[in-house]
Amino acid sequence: QRSLHWFRDDLRLADNPALTCAAESDAVLCLYILDEDGERRPLGGAARWWLSRSLAALSAALTRKGGRLDILRGAPTTLLPALTEAAGIERVTWNRRYEAGSIALDTRLKERLSSAGIEVRSFNASLLNEPWQVTTRTGQPMKVFTPYWRAARERGEPAAPLPAPSRIRSFPLPDSFGKRALALEELALEPTRPDWAGGLRDAWTPGEDGARERLEDCLGDSLAGYAEGRDRPDRDSTSRLSPHLRFGEIGPRQIWHALGTARDNGEAVGSAADAEKFLSELGWREFSYHLLFHNPELATRNYDARFDAFPWKADQQALRRWQRGRTGIPLVDAGMRELWATGWMHNRVRMVVASFLIKHLLQDWREGEAWFWDTLVDADPANNAASWQWVAGSGADAAPYFRIFNPVTQGQAHDPKGAYVRRWVPELAGLPDTEIHAPWKASEETLRAAGIRIGETYPAPLIDLALGRQRALDAFATIRGR
Ligand code: FAD
Repeated sequence: QRSLHWFRDDLRLADNPALTCAAESDAVLCLYILDEDGERRPLGGAARWWLSRSLAALSAALTRKGGRLDILRGAPTTLLPALTEAAGIERVTWNRRYEAGSIALDTRLKERLSSAGIEVRSFNASLLNEPWQVTTRTGQPMKVFTPYWRAARERGEPAAPLPAPSRIRSFPLPDSFGKRALALEELALEPTRPDWAGGLRDAWTPGEDGARERLEDCLGDSLAGYAEGRDRPDRDSTSRLSPHLRFGEIGPRQIWHALGTARDNGEAVGSAADAEKFLSELGWREFSYHLLFHNPELATRNYDARFDAFPWKADQQALRRWQRGRTGIPLVDAGMRELWATGWMHNRVRMVVASFLIKHLLQDWREGEAWFWDTLVDADPANNAASWQWVAGSGADAAPYFRIFNPVTQGQAHDPKGAYVRRWVPELAGLPDTEIHAPWKASEETLRAAGIRIGETYPAPLIDLALGRQRALDAFATIRGR
């Protein structure tokens, strides 16, 4: 029997149920399709870089198992029926994705292939629970995180992760397709002129091995004090597993069980509260997918329709200064520069920069969502959309709109010595800890001693924070009673 496993957002060998199913056949074609004209949202620049590196790692891992990765470009609805016929394939396997475009595509393909007598098997590799499995008592979608997570936990432990197939027996693409197979470089996923990916290369090791190392580091180190430390951007206190999860180089079942085993063996650092908090962050990821599944337009449409009438104040110049980390607000600039340099930003700072854009600058949350989509290595169809709506106050179980983060007090609380700001906004490094989060308030003398001229060496604040806050509250008042 010949099978085809279609790799998508599951770029790993271990705990990959669809690959395991395909590998039981006598021979398996391992295929990745780059589909850039389809119904799915095109990947952003940082995610394309990650994908390129991750496919290289996957290809090497498959080769080590005796198999190979073939890459084609085009529409899966055309390629897969033709390829299965030409190669005499009897079974096609994939792991599910949950955006509306992917679901529609998979449904059409399943019908098409099944009617040609091909067995199609799909699996869940990326979530602890399918988005439709957790419901209210009356079978409705959940809208609030805490009861969602309680109900999800009541479903019990996730299944134990599967080992990687011990051997993959691949066979070559039929001639007509072999000619169209692409080498990774031909995909042109990585930037060349200019090559802006240097910071990404320094920060990350995409691929299954890189994901495993991150997990081990996290279980042995960053989980200690996670429950509180996760809010400290000046510390390396979160797992940084998000891009690995995004591309399915590791799955949540593996993380869940690795954490349990490490704790049972006394190897994991951190308290039970740290472990519980960490699992609940995976829970937020699950909740985002639950929301996306039930609200396919989560990235483009306000979950709370009152916000359709919100008086956004489109301002390209302000948006540009936010994107470039030149707002004159140190914590915001530090976050935006960390994002630009490494493709990642600390969660607390993501909340602060998003709140500043939406509330102090009155820019539509979709502008921020789109920028994150392009620049994050972990840009995720569910987490990004749900989180932006959460900050905007337009989402399910969202922060209320009137909760407006003050980036100065946030900085003082979560980056008390200014180490995070100094790292990403080095022109402020000479300021004392007490002034670093609000340089415009520092005395002439302090600024001179630190070599800073506001408006010249570092921008003046794009907006007065108290004024911006009041303007945001006034704007919200116009839609509040709707
Ligand atoms: P850890 O603290 O180690 O958490 C472990 C895992 O849990 C993460 O890898 C992630 O998969 C999940 N997780 C953690 N926090 C959240 C959260 N608040 N919501 C959902 N899942 C979470 N996360 C993305 O994966 N992709 C995105 O595109 C994304 N966009 C965001 C946009 C905004 C405006 C905000 C406020 C948050 C966004 N997040 C996004 C959520 C969160 O910031 C990141 O998941 C987290 O910072 C990743 O770092 P980590 O892996 O070290 O997290």
